Amino acid sequence: MSKFNFPFISETKELSNLRKEVRKFISEALINKEFEPAADGWVFSANPNFSKKLGSKGWLGMSFPKKYGGNEKTTLERYIVTEELLASGAPVAAHWIADRQSGSQILRYGTEEQKQSIIPKITSGECFFAIGMSEPDSGSDLASVKTKATKTDDGWILEGRKIWSTGAHLSNYMIVLARTSPASEKNRHEGLSQFLVDLSLPNIGIKGIPDMSGQRHFNETLFDKVKLPKDALLGREGKGWEQVVGELALERSGPERFLSHFCLLENFINQFRHVLVKSGSQLIGRLIAELQTLRRMSFSVASMLQNGESPETQAAFVKELGNRFEKMMIESLREFSNIIPLYEWPKQLQNLFEDATLRIPSNSLRGGTTEIMRGIIARQLGLR
Ligand SMILES: Cc1cc2nc3c(=O)[nH]c(=O)nc-3n(C[C@H](O)[C@H](O)[C@H](O)COP(=O)(O)OP(=O)(O)OC[C@H]3O[C@@H](n4cnc5c(N)ncnc54)[C@H](O)[C@@H]3O)c2cc1C
Repeated sequence: MSKFNFPFISETKELSNLRKEVRKFISEALINKEFEPAADGWVFSANPNFSKKLGSKGWLGMSFPKKYGGNEKTTLERYIVTEELLASGAPVAAHWIADRQSGSQILRYGTEEQKQSIIPKITSGECFFAIGMSEPDSGSDLASVKTKATKTDDGWILEGRKIWSTGAHLSNYMIVLARTSPASEKNRHEGLSQFLVDLSLPNIGIKGIPDMSGQRHFNETLFDKVKLPKDALLGREGKGWEQVVGELALERSGPERFLSHFCLLENFINQFRHVLVKSGSQLIGRLIAELQTLRRMSFSVASMLQNGESPETQAAFVKELGNRFEKMMIESLREFSNIIPLYEWPKQLQNLFEDATLRIPSNSLRGGTTEIMRGIIARQLGLR
């Protein structure tokens, strides 16, 4: 099977040329052994040199304004580059968060100075970001965060703890959600603010947490009375909740919610094509049909975001259905191992499958749990 050789919206000649160009770039990188395809490459495979190479191709912050180093490309162009990188299991983790959400967040809410000093480094693949939302007692209920920032004459003092921050140990900045004033009785979402925290500042401790596969990709970060300059505030003081909600839509709706393990599926189909033709066509047909639907949904959300809308509910749909699709895919492949046992699969395929099996449980947690996604959808439907 070759990737995505079925129609996707209306792919113009320019778009299909771009797709070809990305594929060529990836296949050359594979020939040069610049990376080994990995399941969940956007979380687990960080390669700053590869990120820089993408930056020099103009494929990071692609849709950002040229005056900040961007390329002013369309959402669909960015989408195509992102899909191809994800589908090949490329090492995109280092820049993923900066390219997906932090850069857009700064463009939307940042000061001119923040934009000028940070965005060009994001687009060149030299500045990486982590997300500082969750805390030990605050994951789903973000409004209850206890990390606080207190105003001083020359800036802020940040105190608290963030947890599960993917890639914080490799990042230059973390966008931290902190309380800057007590919640009002009427509205507990008030009084939160976002901060652009330079992770090289004194009194910041970053400690890795191994996941169940033994790998370290997320971290606990301690802010022990960290002095932040005035301009560390991102956006408006006290309006962090509105800002974070928009950021979550960027986080939840992208193709990584259903393409994290595509390199496994592709490898599997290529390997067992002869058997699948006889007894697995229904299985593959179902997976591909679901995948195509998810691509269209996810792309529609990307277009809404580009138009300045806040498609929280639609993003929740993509995440919930995408997580379900990936789980179903792994389960379907496991069932296939009743026909050809796992130990007879080629080693690389076995490894991809085993990694995916260990990582799938975290899909329905990261970026917001399944229950929370369903709650958002139910609210929109007027059911709660
Ligand atoms: C791989 C991975 C990467 C992550 N990366 C980051 C990151 O980079 N930055 C970051 O800030 N966070 C990150 N997280 C944290 C993630 O966002 C949280 O784990 C998630 O939001 C859930 O929060 P919690 O773990 O505190 O669980 P809790 O909120 O304590 O939830 C526990 C259980 O209760 C359920 N529950 C909670 N509230 C409700 C409700 N109102 N209705 C119904 N059920 C409910 C949940 O669905 C869940 O099953 C990551 C997590 C994972 C697994």
